[in-house]
Amino acid sequence: MRCPGRRILLYYPHMYDLIIIGGGPAGVAAAIYAARKRLKTALIAEEIGGQSVVSNSIENWIGTKDISGTDLAQSFQTHLDAVKGDTVTLAIGERVVALGKNAGGFLITTKMNKEFTARAVLIASGAGRRKLDVPGAEKFENKGVTYCASCDGPLFADQDVAVIGGGNAGFETALQLLAYAKSVTLIHRHAEFKADSVTVEKARAHPNMHVITHAEPIEVVGEQFVTGLVYKEKGSGEVKNLAVSGIFVEAGVIPNTSFAEGIAELDAIRRIKTDARSQRTSTEGVWAAGDCTDELYHQNNIAAGDGVKALEDIYLWIKKQ
Ligand SMILES: Cc1cc2nc3c(=O)[nH]c(=O)nc-3n(C[C@H](O)[C@H](O)[C@H](O)COP(=O)(O)OP(=O)(O)OC[C@H]3O[C@@H](n4cnc5c(N)ncnc54)[C@H](O)[C@@H]3O)c2cc1C
Repeated sequence: MRCPGRRILLYYPHMYDLIIIGGGPAGVAAAIYAARKRLKTALIAEEIGGQSVVSNSIENWIGTKDISGTDLAQSFQTHLDAVKGDTVTLAIGERVVALGKNAGGFLITTKMNKEFTARAVLIASGAGRRKLDVPGAEKFENKGVTYCASCDGPLFADQDVAVIGGGNAGFETALQLLAYAKSVTLIHRHAEFKADSVTVEKARAHPNMHVITHAEPIEVVGEQFVTGLVYKEKGSGEVKNLAVSGIFVEAGVIPNTSFAEGIAELDAIRRIKTDARSQRTSTEGVWAAGDCTDELYHQNNIAAGDGVKALEDIYLWIKKQ
């Protein structure tokens, strides 16, 4: 007859102290701290770097004056490679599809049907792009409607293009496009911009930059490819057509939290509710950090800080178990 402890060991041969889901600044910062604290950790992520990997120039990552998204991702990878080994295991290229409780703690299942078990979980899965939800947007996706300026921008050299969204991502996209497009028209639904003033001023100083505020897109039109964006001026109600061949959508983000549904409480827009002092979620043993949470501000430094804060709390929690 086996003793209960032995049975658990056989059933969970790779029981980790901690599983971190996500390889953006939140997840990577937490993994570095986990290594220093010698927590047996697995970091599971589709890729390393996170959302700003598409940015040409990040000017506010502390300690670097200016770094591209790809170089930032590479520096994360280099730092992880330096700490990986017995303590920290990397499972990159894996997508988590389910997170549930089990006898030893938590069971995590990936799309490739791999299972991981851990006593504690840190969700740092960030957020993805919100799609443009107007007639024609889906039909013309990749035929003029795009969600990645650094991937598709050069295809629109010397053409008139539109950017939808007045946040940092919208203005950064406009700045990238101004390098080769004939003109860039940014459409924003509010009168005030969410983007940093420095970024707004830099874009607006460009002679080929146009901004339309207090307006909302109504339809994407075209034949084989996009020929225009129909929008409504919210003040007057007037409907106008903007002749463009490219539409770059930067309309906000949706948290990557579908696998966490049922295990951690989400808010009305599906972000994980956390205690801002500790990053704890509604479930004992589960923490969340970065853009997947109800944190007010979404920035690389904040995500990394949240990851570190979570790790400090997780460490104390594990030691008390
Ligand atoms: C275009 C753009 C430019 C930006 N520029 C700046 C800037 O200049 N300065 C700044 O401070 N901030 C910038 N930001 C914001 C910044 O990128 C985010 O705040 C930050 O990346 C959030 O980090 P995170 O670790 O919470 O999540 P993310 O960066 O979103 O990383 C999420 C990670 O989780 C992984 N993942 C997601 N779902 C799963 C799953 N189911 N299974 C496994 N892995 C999963 C992803 O692969 C990724 O590794 C920018 C954002 C964008 C979109």
